[in-house]
This record gives sequence, structure tokens and C-alpha cells, in this order.
Amino acid sequence: MPAARRGQAATCWLVQLGNGDNFVFDIGSGAAANLASLEIPYDELDKLFLIHLHQDHIGDVPALWIGGWTGGRHGALKVWGPSGHRPELGTAAMIEALQATYRWDHTSRLGVIPSRGGDIEVSEFDYRGVNEVVYESNGVSIRSWPAIHTIDGPISYALDWNGLTFVFGGDTLPNEWYVEHAAGADIAIHECFMPPDLMMQKYGFSPRSALNVATTVHTVPAAFGEVMRRVAPRMAVAYHFFNDQDTRYPIYEGIRRTYDGPLTMADDLLCWNVTSDDIRVREVIVDEAVWPTKSSRPPDEPSPADKVHFTDFIAGGRLDLSATLDPLVDAFKREHGLE
Ligand SMILES: [Zn+2]
Ligand SMILES: [Zn+2]
Repeated sequence: MPAARRGQAATCWLVQLGNGDNFVFDIGSGAAANLASLEIPYDELDKLFLIHLHQDHIGDVPALWIGGWTGGRHGALKVWGPSGHRPELGTAAMIEALQATYRWDHTSRLGVIPSRGGDIEVSEFDYRGVNEVVYESNGVSIRSWPAIHTIDGPISYALDWNGLTFVFGGDTLPNEWYVEHAAGADIAIHECFMPPDLMMQKYGFSPRSALNVATTVHTVPAAFGEVMRRVAPRMAVAYHFFNDQDTRYPIYEGIRRTYDGPLTMADDLLCWNVTSDDIRVREVIVDEAVWPTKSSRPPDEPSPADKVHFTDFIAGGRLDLSATLDPLVDAFKREHGLE
């Protein structure tokens, strides 16, 4: 959900394939710390697919971009996402604006650490494409089709590899494209929102706002169940609700009114191990205090030419501690063979 809480991050799905490829789908607020806790080098978390541009789906893009850069990513963060129905509402415009927002941050690191990890490469595609391939490499293809959510632009993704299909529907009202193109998927994720009475009791919404959000923007549990009854996946995954002791059962019962197939109610750090003949749902146990996981490649070197230097005014205010620092710096340089 957009309102942050320690106990549950906003949307993010990591797909790890047997060919070694990793794909990140959305990275909402709080998700970057969870992703880091899986101890995967940032070099291998450089493909990010965005489903739409709400804060609960993109809030931690800066943490993956800048944090992943300082955490050892060698190259650009690559971002895929939909266009909008006006150019300024598309993924490319959002990333360009984000880069402008973080211009001081980005500029300040150049010449100090390697520059290339601070780049972003964007691939924007038409949100109106129906089951169109938006990515194809190394035996993996990713398709997109439109979702129906607040205004034009949101989409759904399906990833196909090795005879297996993962579908992430994103936020959407029940729609015909999802039912058609997610049919029979191995993992089918679709939003399942809190019913309006829960939004009033727990989120403090008025009856009108609760009804608006639950029925004109999102999919309530009984409707989620109807969608999954038609899709008949090997595993249906419901997400987009605060998963608490007192909320999961009303949502579960709503789904079970219309769907009796395999079901997972999403929460942080759940893991689905998928093969052609089995799906196991497990909970990942993580270290709370990880450091960035080292890449298999040695770190690049910074480019001094990229450095933006202090003005004479600011540099002139520096306290002269050379008598203390020079011997320490000289010893470090000798130890590591630096000029
Ligand atoms: Zn949304
Ligand atoms: Zn959302």
C-alpha cells in the first residue's frame, strides 16, 4: 500500500530463472531493503520492469538506482515500462524527471566512485500493445497487455521461459485481456484489494472514498476469485492488501466465495519454487543487517575527469590536518599499490 509501514513493503517481485537471469518487477517503498536482504549482487538486479507509475510500485527506484550504484553495479540500471496517453505521463518522462531530481546526488558521486553504474537506460513501450513482446533475450520473453487502473498507462506482464509462465497483472480492475493472456499460467499474480468496509475501519476512509477505491480503481476479493476461476493458474497469488491476522481472513473468505483453486495470500519474503511438476511456497529467512553483496567482477575505477570540483571559496574552508592524515594516506597507498 502507498502508506508505508515497517511490517510490509509495497509491491516488488523478483523472478529468478534456472538460466541465471534475474528480473525485478516493480519496486515500491520499502522493497529495496527486502531485495537487498536476498544477498544478490546489484549487477544481477539491473533489469527492472515497471507495471505503472504509482508510488507504491516505483517508490524505491532511487534506492535501487543510486543504492545499487554505490553497492557495486557496474553498468546502467535498465528500466522497462509503459508509455502514457500523453508523453509526459510515460515511463521515460518519469525517469528523466527522477534523474533531474537526483542531479545533485548523481553529480556529487562522479569521479569519486566509478561513473557507469549511475546511468539509467529506459525502454518505453506502447501501453496499448495487446500481448506484445517487450523483451526477448537468452530464451526469455516478456509480453505486455493493458490493465485498467485509474487512468490510461498501466499494463500487465507475462514472462515465458523454459515452458513456464509467470504473470504479474499489476493493479487493475478485472479485465478481459488478463483472463485471455494469463490463462493457465504457472504463477498468476493479480491485485486483490481490501473490501470497502475494511478500508473504512482500518485505513480511515469515508464510505464514498472507500467505495471509489475498492470498486472503480481496484479488484475486491470476490472479483479476484472470479478472475482466477477463469484463468485457472497452477498458483494464484493475491496481493495489494495489508496482510494481518484480522484482515487476511475476510479477504480469504471473499476470494473463496468464487474460487477454490491453489492460492497464496502475498506477504513479504514469500518464495515460490516452480518446476513443471511442483510448486512449493516457502518463506525466506534473511539477515537483517546485510552489506551489499559483492559482484563476481572486480570493481571498476573512478574517472577523475568526471569530478566536479569545489569552488575556491568552499575548498578554502578546509581544516589543514595534513600532518595527521598524510602518513595514513601514504601508508594506505603503499599497501594497495596506488600512485
Ligand atoms: Zn496503482
Ligand atoms: Zn498499487
